[in-house]
Amino acid sequence: MKQVVVCRPVNNIPINGAMEYLLDGEGGVRIFDSTEQAEKELRDAGCVDEELRHMLFLESCGACRRCGSPLFRSLIPQYEYQCFTCDEDFYKCEQEGEPCGTHTTFSLCS
Ligand SMILES: [Zn+2]
Repeated sequence: MKQVVVCRPVNNIPINGAMEYLLDGEGGVRIFDSTEQAEKELRDAGCVDEELRHMLFLESCGACRRCGSPLFRSLIPQYEYQCFTCDEDFYKCEQEGEPCGTHTTFSLCS
């Protein structure tokens, strides 16, 4: 089952594509076990269909090479992945470990 994070346009207004993530009680990004679970919890919290339609459910696409947490697609165009535990965005080469010839940040690329 794919883990899921939920994001929406900042303040529910789509400006410059800026998105904000749904947080857990401790200020970290909330990671759900599935889209169904996320939708259910949002509905339980009082979200209506109209609100849910504007939300984006991002499915995990692997595990972080650095910390093992679920990895998600980055919303930043130049990056491929992001890890909420590391609180970082990663280039494709950083997580897939293949030298891309462009990026030389961190050891997987060298
Ligand atoms: Zn990580």
